[in-house]
Amino acid sequence: MFDIRLDDAQRAYRNLAREFAQNEIKPLALELDRRPNWEDRIPWEVLRKGSQLGLRTFALQEENGGAGASDHLTACLIAEELAAADIGTAYYYMLTARRARDWFELRMTDEQRAYFLPRFLNDDFYFTTVAIHEPDTDLGFDYYTETPQNVRFKTRALEQPDGSWVINGAKNFQTVGYLAKLLVVIAQTEAGPRPFLVEGDSPGITRHPMTKIGRRVGDNAEIFFDDVRVPKDHILGPAPPGRTDLGTHVTIAALTLGLGRAALEETLKYAQERVAGGKPIIQHQAVGLFLADMATNLEAARRLIWTAAWAKDHPQAFADGDADWQPYEHMAAAFTGRAVQRLTEQGMELFGGMGVIAGMPIEKYVRDALVQKHISFPFPTRYRITEALTGYTRKSAPLIGIW
Ligand SMILES: Cc1cc2nc3c(=O)[nH]c(=O)nc-3n(C[C@H](O)[C@H](O)[C@H](O)COP(=O)(O)OP(=O)(O)OC[C@H]3O[C@@H](n4cnc5c(N)ncnc54)[C@H](O)[C@@H]3O)c2cc1C
Repeated sequence: MFDIRLDDAQRAYRNLAREFAQNEIKPLALELDRRPNWEDRIPWEVLRKGSQLGLRTFALQEENGGAGASDHLTACLIAEELAAADIGTAYYYMLTARRARDWFELRMTDEQRAYFLPRFLNDDFYFTTVAIHEPDTDLGFDYYTETPQNVRFKTRALEQPDGSWVINGAKNFQTVGYLAKLLVVIAQTEAGPRPFLVEGDSPGITRHPMTKIGRRVGDNAEIFFDDVRVPKDHILGPAPPGRTDLGTHVTIAALTLGLGRAALEETLKYAQERVAGGKPIIQHQAVGLFLADMATNLEAARRLIWTAAWAKDHPQAFADGDADWQPYEHMAAAFTGRAVQRLTEQGMELFGGMGVIAGMPIEKYVRDALVQKHISFPFPTRYRITEALTGYTRKSAPLIGIW
């Protein structure tokens, strides 16, 4: 049986994130978005402050320098709050925070943890990325699934006589790839693809930012590897058997949700202030219906996200048969992506002419939401839902991917 109630700690995290987001991130968001040069859009000071507040580390256990908030529901609450201020800035923290838990605590060896964890903890700008996609790739899979062993990446890792590896190739689109100090790079070896732990300052790495139409704060990068040497034991281990609580996808849905909430709040405010036809436009019935539609879809998305997060946090409920399993995480990603894209467009309509004026918040939200829909609604996510429902993938695990 689903029992989704926030506890005191979760409420406290939500409040902390809300205060930081509204006071530190939001005041900068619109201005950063409009800066033409990519480097000028990196909110260094905010990244530092948020890091010192624990936004990169909260999901780690206390003995590893975190706050022990390793559940996905807490991550979703924080993600929504940060993204309600600026989704691009929020991405920096949230992907790194979830991967810190997955990589340092669940997948690294003791030796790897001893090497990487202090570097991560002692550097406010230590972010992480996963480099899977390649230019001109035809891999036949996407990052919503674990990397199949039979695909062939063009990026190759060649084992050296001393056991170390040399990587050559190119990757593109990597989220946080430009600033990341730790890259998990999926490269082809003779034994199949392997996830290599590559340090961002390794000689032979070149990175270029890719500017997007939305989510302009927060980078995506092209990354080139030219004879990049990786030590022998820097290969990330697999997801531990039976673990269903890895990956960032439900957190990404919560980031999209936060953006949608910001759009709704902005539109509600405008509809009460703007007088047209002799009264505030919210009093025109058609406007009110739009707003009701926006709010209902947003709340439906939130319920699906919380259910998906709860499912990841309580696999036992499904194993015991207490709750019926659905591919909640895919559903949350796909539904939220589309719902938020639609509601930002509805908001834009309610702003009338002001809706398309550059520099208005709603115009930014529409562009941000297009990117979010693009990464979560097209073919792969929805096809995974059908696959899961028809039994092609394992039904017992409410898990859609390990990244
Ligand atoms: C904002 C953003 C962030 C990203 N972050 C990362 C990241 O952090 N790390 C990383 O490695 N990658 C990242 N990616 C890459 C992302 O995983 C790919 O863009 C995605 O998997 C789609 O691959 P593609 O771009 O090659 O599209 P294509 O495969 O070229 O698809 C083109 C069109 O064909 C359709 N299509 C493709 N194959 C099929 C099929 N078999 N059947 C039916 N239709 C099909 C697609 O749905 C699409 O409409 C990111 C991309 C974006 C846009």
